[in-house]
Amino acid sequence: MSPRLLLINCASPYFFYIPMGCFGLCDLLSRQGVETRLFNPALYSQDTLHKQLTRVLTTLQPTHVGLACHWQETAHGLLEALQLVRNWSNTVLTFAGGFTASYFADDLLRSVPALDCVVTGDPEEPVLQLVQGHARQSIANLVWRDTEGTVRRNDSTWLIDQKLFDQLTFTDCSHLLDADIYIDKINSKLGFPLLLGRGCIFDCAYCGGSRHAFRLHSGRPLPIVRALPSTLADLHQLKQWTTVLYLCYENDPVMIKTLFQAIGDDPDLRGHFTLNYGAWHLLDEEFLKLYQYAFHWENTRPIFEFSPEVTVNTHRERIKRGYTYELAAMEDNLHTVAEFFNGKVRIEIFFSRYHPTLSTRDLEEEIKAILLFKHRMIREGLPVHVRYDHLSSDIASRYWEEHQKNPRDFSQFLLLKEQVDRGIRYRFPVDNLCLLVPQAEEDFLVQHEALLLVLELIEKYCHELFHILLASMETQWLQILSTVLKPYLADEQATTFFAAPPLVSIIQELGKELGSSSLRRPPFLPDLIRFSVNKLTLAPEPETSTRPALCDADKVQLDRSRMSIHEQDYLDLLPLLQQLSSSEQQPIPYQRTVCLFTGSGIITIPHSFYRATLRLLEQPTSIATYQAALERDGRIDWQQHKQFLNQLYQEEALVTINEADILLPG
Ligand code: SF4
Repeated sequence: MSPRLLLINCASPYFFYIPMGCFGLCDLLSRQGVETRLFNPALYSQDTLHKQLTRVLTTLQPTHVGLACHWQETAHGLLEALQLVRNWSNTVLTFAGGFTASYFADDLLRSVPALDCVVTGDPEEPVLQLVQGHARQSIANLVWRDTEGTVRRNDSTWLIDQKLFDQLTFTDCSHLLDADIYIDKINSKLGFPLLLGRGCIFDCAYCGGSRHAFRLHSGRPLPIVRALPSTLADLHQLKQWTTVLYLCYENDPVMIKTLFQAIGDDPDLRGHFTLNYGAWHLLDEEFLKLYQYAFHWENTRPIFEFSPEVTVNTHRERIKRGYTYELAAMEDNLHTVAEFFNGKVRIEIFFSRYHPTLSTRDLEEEIKAILLFKHRMIREGLPVHVRYDHLSSDIASRYWEEHQKNPRDFSQFLLLKEQVDRGIRYRFPVDNLCLLVPQAEEDFLVQHEALLLVLELIEKYCHELFHILLASMETQWLQILSTVLKPYLADEQATTFFAAPPLVSIIQELGKELGSSSLRRPPFLPDLIRFSVNKLTLAPEPETSTRPALCDADKVQLDRSRMSIHEQDYLDLLPLLQQLSSSEQQPIPYQRTVCLFTGSGIITIPHSFYRATLRLLEQPTSIATYQAALERDGRIDWQQHKQFLNQLYQEEALVTINEADILLPG
């Protein structure tokens, strides 16, 4: 029987990307006459997945099923896919590959009977031989189970050679089932990852794709890089599928520039793709010019990612096991990048917790440095988004190897992963597969995490409060915020707190404590706290339906329960921040402002304008009467103002009213 392979990309709720090597493997096998299909469970809902996979298995009748288990997050996806395959057939030969399967190969085979073998490291030639029926003991990179049930690991290692690496295409999506759905999904994230090479010259201690980790899971001592014509051929192939590319392989910046130059010089490629770019180095002007020469960037807001990981330069050097760049130099570079793209760019900065090199004291300082960094980005008007996520624990990384007793124990890894997935490993939630946290006292970690969570919420929902406090007090308010949080975190209360932090009460208490402290604080602090609480409590749910336009006969009234008057226009934030940090002793002028809290945001108007207009609508008034009053006054353009009224009406700040249904002031 001629061999047929179904390659399944093991999925997780967070990962739908297919490892780049899968496309090359499909290409090689189909060139060798093996019918090959690539199936990505992440494209289907959980309800339909079983049916979809069974349909593919029944139609293709594969002789072999391969499971790409690359990222550690997909380990449960491997087990689920295997189960579905075994429900269909007890005899089809199953094998797994990818970083995670390779790293845990022996233990995986010992503990998962449904899996027949693991192809470690480079998969092309070993998988080809496996599906062609070569004796298992003769296939390089293979770990397998013999008839006695003993797990055997073949000694020889196969590494792809330059010729084959250059011959294959890694961008042909024709083997992928429902490729159009996949392309849509990845385009909404970062785009199609372009494969330039395999292996990394760098050795970041946290990374499962580092030089060190590649030796462990793939037996690869050095990276291999594809020749430029092969990459260009891949791009020509990819043109029919997408216009969005992702590149994150900066082993050699000169090579990247050469590639950009070649893309720009090719009239069929120039300007076709938008490239989202993960940078390891800072980006010089030559790089940026070549980027603009090669790619489509106007009106697309390309993404540039930088991963300084930590704010302290010496820590970064240790974590990345070599000098990269200083934080200040990166900040300068962000200006350059933003200017090059006229601000029409998205810059993502990744800091992570918890790198084991940082002490608890360092962690406290890290929060302060990150907050001040975020604040500078806002002040400088840079299109920068800063993340401070839990570090995903890459298996095979130096961190993993150094902090696990039996790092290749698959069952132990699964247990830890399950605890994180179910939210029971720590007393606080984590936003990645974070298996390693510092050996700090648990109470410290709970307080630290609570502080970070509340800061994140304040930044998200009370952005003005967040930056005004930073502008006027720098990070001095954090200590008081920590004290406010403490009573919420005693023993079992912490679980309730992390599930739904009582942000309104926290902000009110923070305001009270800051007000009674001797710290220098914004002069309008009580008003700012009131504004922030109103923001959290007064805005209605956004309207889903459109209301009919107002008519002259309609009687309307301002919904004063969604309105408040404040001492400053907090929404006009930058000038206020400027005054706060420059005005030392100078009083900040009072700017009486009316805020209307609507479903789609806050509308602010100067109080003088309010007095001349909307104040008349505090009482039920017909549109015709209101218009007549404004026209008598003569200062307001009625046509323009009518549009504004309609906007207020659509946004529920203004309501039509019956005589019998008069709103009372809130
Ligand atoms: S994080 Fe560091 S080691 Fe890992 S792939 Fe990137 S540059 Fe290489």
